[in-house]
Amino acid sequence: MDAERIRFFLPEEKKEEKHAADKEKTYELIIVGGGPAGLTAAVYSARKAIDTLLLTKDIGGQILLTQEVENYMGYQYIGGKELIEKFKQHVQRFPVAMKEKTEVVRITNDEKTFTVETRDGESYHAKTVIIAAGKRPRPLNAKGEKELVGKGVTYCSVCDAPLFSGQNVAVIGGGNSGLTAVVDLIKIAKKIYLIESFPSLRADAVLVEKAERSDKVEKFLGYEVLEVLGRGRVENIKIKPKQKDETKTLPVTGVLIEIGLIPNSYLAKDLVKLNDFQEILVDCACRTSVPGVFAAGDVTTVPEKQIVVAAGEGAKAALSCYNYLLGLR
Ligand SMILES: Cc1cc2nc3c(=O)[nH]c(=O)nc-3n(C[C@H](O)[C@H](O)[C@H](O)COP(=O)(O)OP(=O)(O)OC[C@H]3O[C@@H](n4cnc5c(N)ncnc54)[C@H](O)[C@@H]3O)c2cc1C
Repeated sequence: MDAERIRFFLPEEKKEEKHAADKEKTYELIIVGGGPAGLTAAVYSARKAIDTLLLTKDIGGQILLTQEVENYMGYQYIGGKELIEKFKQHVQRFPVAMKEKTEVVRITNDEKTFTVETRDGESYHAKTVIIAAGKRPRPLNAKGEKELVGKGVTYCSVCDAPLFSGQNVAVIGGGNSGLTAVVDLIKIAKKIYLIESFPSLRADAVLVEKAERSDKVEKFLGYEVLEVLGRGRVENIKIKPKQKDETKTLPVTGVLIEIGLIPNSYLAKDLVKLNDFQEILVDCACRTSVPGVFAAGDVTTVPEKQIVVAAGEGAKAALSCYNYLLGLR
């Protein structure tokens, strides 16, 4: 029944058509973010015939960092890249204007419209906005770290651990992500230094046991990383116990940083209310503190950061936006 209705207002020749972003018009909706929340919002808004523009840095969001997914309904197992491709194809069947490789830096409002500004100096306009900008890896902010990103420093163990086969590496972070990285590296790395700033590990017992069973793993609990050193590539890291003033230098060619994620709410920090963790405050209908601005997925205060939750919130945000637009008409 639904499929028939879509075919009715989406002729066959339009289904794969690319729609360019238009700076001159005022869209009914701009969605920021091309992860599960933003892409699902796009499908729902298109099905309500809302004139929509989606602006995003990439298509896929955190799923790009995920090798396999075992908890998205309908698939007992699916690779991260395969799931993104399916999401993307789904959106492309609808007439949604989309601009990738675009970072939104600021959203402002006047009485009737929102202006969405991008890093490359462009501005787009809409009557409503859905912010679905998700989260990004938290940096250590150690000396030398920034300069050596991609040259031995990585924030995605899932993607990059295989690059360190046979090498000495440091994993920073004693939570589930850090310990998952350690367990994966046990099979391929020569030596793994696990560095955690707290005096104990915070990961699930099963992961901790696996790490502790391996003689390749050496733990430094209660230590901080002072500096990542190397000429052109990582060669060493300098660490220090939090309580003492002595430093150690560990010979590593890889530094895998797994210390959590931060919400990408910076683009709306002067527009909507955030909580203490920089998440956008939303009610159960994805409404933010500003009428006409909705938010969905990991960037919000909604608990449980999962693909299925983000997708569901994206759907809700689009339907709330539809009801809001009806009130404006
Ligand atoms: C390593 C890893 C493994 C995971 N494994 C699973 C799993 O197995 N199962 C599961 O359910 N969940 C898993 N998750 C969590 C899941 O990926 C997230 O909950 C989900 O992706 C959140 O979706 P989102 O759309 O809210 O945000 P994101 O996926 O973070 O997407 C945000 C989107 O916004 C874009 N964006 C960000 N800032 C801007 C900006 N300023 N301007 C324009 N665009 C912007 C990004 O490019 C991206 O497209 C995993 C997460 C990680 C990191």
